[in-house]
Amino acid sequence: MVWSSLVNRLLPQSCLLCGDHSGARSLCLPCHAELPWHGGEQCPVCAIPTLHGSHCGACIKTPPAFDRTTAAWRYGWPVDRLIPAYKYRSQLELTHALAHGLLQATEGVDRPDMLLPMPLHPTRLRERGFNQSQELARQLGRWRQLPLADQAVARIKLTPPQASLPHDERQRAIRGAFAVQGKVAGQHIALVDDVMTTGASLNELAHALKKAGARRVDCWVLARTL
Ligand SMILES: [Zn+2]
Ligand SMILES: [Zn+2]
Repeated sequence: MVWSSLVNRLLPQSCLLCGDHSGARSLCLPCHAELPWHGGEQCPVCAIPTLHGSHCGACIKTPPAFDRTTAAWRYGWPVDRLIPAYKYRSQLELTHALAHGLLQATEGVDRPDMLLPMPLHPTRLRERGFNQSQELARQLGRWRQLPLADQAVARIKLTPPQASLPHDERQRAIRGAFAVQGKVAGQHIALVDDVMTTGASLNELAHALKKAGARRVDCWVLARTL
C-alpha cells in the first residue's frame, strides 16, 4: 500500500473517466466536480429526496433501526460504473477517489465514535479478495482520525447478493446475518457501505447493533439509488 501510494505520487495518471491528465488522482478535477452529488432536501433518516427535508413516508410508517443517512452521490452515471468497477474488479486505485467523496459528504455531519464497514461473509471475502467497504472505511478513518470497529460484527449467514433479490424479499433474506461480538454499548457508530438501495442490510446491521446497546447508528454510503 505504501509502495502504491508512492508510485501514485510519482507517476502522473490519466483520469479514469475522460483520459485527461489527472496528476496523482484517479479522476481529474472537472470529472470529480461533475459527479452526481446527492445534495438538496432529503429525508434525514434514509436520504431519499423529500419536500423541505421532511421525513419520508416509509421512514414514518416503519422507522428503520438506523438514525441518519449521508450519501455522497446518487447512483447514476458515472458512479454506477465506478462502484461496480471498484467492487468486482479490485480497482483499488479508486478507493481514494470514492472515499474522498464520502469525506466531502460527511463534512459537518455529527462525528461518530467509530466507523464500522459493512462486514462480508468469509466466503464472499475469499471470492472477492477484499472488502470494498472496509477499504473505504479505513481510508476515511485515516483522514477523519476515527477508529475502525471492523472486528465488532461478524457476518454469520451467507446470503445471496441483495441485488439478485426482489426488493420485498431483501429484509427477510438478511435477517439474522450479523453477530455483534465487540463492545458497542453506548457508542455512536457510522456504518460505511457502497450503495444503499432498500437499505435492508444496513437496517439489519443497525438493528443488531442497537440490540447490543449502540446509542446511535448512522449510514455513510457512497451512493443512494433513487
Ligand atoms: Zn476527467
Ligand atoms: Zn426516509
